[in-house]
Amino acid sequence: MTISIPRTTSLVDTQSAESFACQRIICIGRNYAEHAKEMGHDPQREPPFFFFKPLSAINLSGKLSLPTYSNEVHYELELVLALSGGGKDLNPAQAEACIGGVALGLDMTCRDIQGQAKKQGRPWELAKGFDHSAPITAIGAAGFADLQTLGEMNLLKNGNEVQRGHWQDMLWSPAELLQQVSHYIALQAGDLIFTGTPAGVGPVQAGDRLSGRLQGFSQTLELQITD
Ligand code: ZN
Repeated sequence: MTISIPRTTSLVDTQSAESFACQRIICIGRNYAEHAKEMGHDPQREPPFFFFKPLSAINLSGKLSLPTYSNEVHYELELVLALSGGGKDLNPAQAEACIGGVALGLDMTCRDIQGQAKKQGRPWELAKGFDHSAPITAIGAAGFADLQTLGEMNLLKNGNEVQRGHWQDMLWSPAELLQQVSHYIALQAGDLIFTGTPAGVGPVQAGDRLSGRLQGFSQTLELQITD
């Protein structure tokens, strides 16, 4: 099973020409030092960890209805890599060659439920994998070299900036992330990699409007929070 996500022919093109058949969503945890600190962790360069969201998390609607079982749903703005190739135990050149596109996404998270799960040693699905919990822009076709043209990303909540970060400040670079993940699982064309969030995560409530931008990328991420 796959879910179709619109794809443009380049990072700066806004017309979607074709689609990306997403088959899996892989999310990286704690990949920016300042966010690791705000979550109470020492940002030493330990190997990255990852978790999955189901395909039902993909959200192209521009709206998000909050899950009723959480009182603290947070935004996490993330650079997303779309893979056009894959493999197991990738070397650096192979990892770079897997990158086929870029998008901007939100890893929406029930922070209260995640905190309980951490304490109880339970999985994170309820906190991270709820319906429509991965709002995402169209994917801009891009190879590894095109990443160099991208600058800072930032997120506005109701017009005020709440997050700002540069992908070059990741603890693990895009190619390193793919190498690390491919040590455990074979990456495949159709995988989306949410690469972690910079500092500034915080809560949303019904009525809030989120707006994400990435320098060098023409797509913007707009999300209206509803009940
Ligand atoms: Zn995240």
